[in-house]
Amino acid sequence: MIDEITITKAITSKFVEKFLDGIECDVAIVGAGPSGLTASYYLAKAGFKVSLFEKKLSLGGGIWGGGMMFNKVVVQTPALEILDDFGITYEQFDENHYVVDAIELAGALIHRAVKAGVKVFNLTSVEDVMIRDGKITGLVINWTAVEMSGLHVDPMTISAKAVVDATGHDAIVCRLVAKKTGELELRGEKYMHAEAGESGVVENTSEVFPGLFVTGMAVAAVYGLPRMGPIFGGMLLSGKKVAELIAKKLK
Ligand SMILES: Cc1cc2nc3c(=O)[nH]c(=O)nc-3n(C[C@H](O)[C@H](O)[C@H](O)COP(=O)(O)OP(=O)(O)OC[C@H]3O[C@@H](n4cnc5c(N)ncnc54)[C@H](O)[C@@H]3O)c2cc1C
Repeated sequence: MIDEITITKAITSKFVEKFLDGIECDVAIVGAGPSGLTASYYLAKAGFKVSLFEKKLSLGGGIWGGGMMFNKVVVQTPALEILDDFGITYEQFDENHYVVDAIELAGALIHRAVKAGVKVFNLTSVEDVMIRDGKITGLVINWTAVEMSGLHVDPMTISAKAVVDATGHDAIVCRLVAKKTGELELRGEKYMHAEAGESGVVENTSEVFPGLFVTGMAVAAVYGLPRMGPIFGGMLLSGKKVAELIAKKLK
């Protein structure tokens, strides 16, 4: 027999269980685009307790639309090992350019991250940070629907030993820290230059404020780097690098 009330109880109790476990984590990642998903996978695989907050209904960020809605993306040679880790298929286009199906890329990153143990909270917007003794200690979250509808509902908080800003062009977490502490400066993303942008994003993936790490396009926004269009190797490599930096710091 299928019972409607049992379905309601099952969903509610299991979500609350996940939520209670996820609100005190080792690493809180904001944004589930390619960089945030990659970082979450490697950190969870290394044994850290990871919560991933995504304001939209679906995860994947800017992956799905490829370039100009042609749902293929390009990845360069150094990032192939990450595609291999995730079991993602790629096709060689020339010596250094490989083509990946955007749908497979998004689907595989999401699937492998969840399987590795990442707790995902979609439809959840990060709207502020918690700071104690000059260090980020957590995030302030609310339902995206509350934010969108302008309802007068207070947010709640979660704690983390490290926070990752993976919110892409907007660099929301860094922007909040810059505004509220005056101790971080965002230089703003620059013109298109794929090669400089890709290497710059990976090189500058770092801890930008005590407890706050930045990855993906948010790195370009913080460090004033060129944009690079629909090439995704830098996003994957930056996600893996931030995971390694955090693992080193927390261990
Ligand atoms: C207009 C436009 C221009 C682009 N230009 C470029 C470009 O020049 N170069 C380039 O490489 N790529 C560009 N892209 C493609 C794409 O955005 C990126 O390459 C790639 O997806 C960035 O990966 P990411 O992981 O840094 O962030 P994204 O893929 O952007 O993912 C960020 C995620 O964070 C989530 N998020 C944002 N704020 C919050 C919040 N407060 N709380 C919770 N979640 C939040 C977003 O919903 C999103 O899912 C562009 C995309 C768009 C739409």
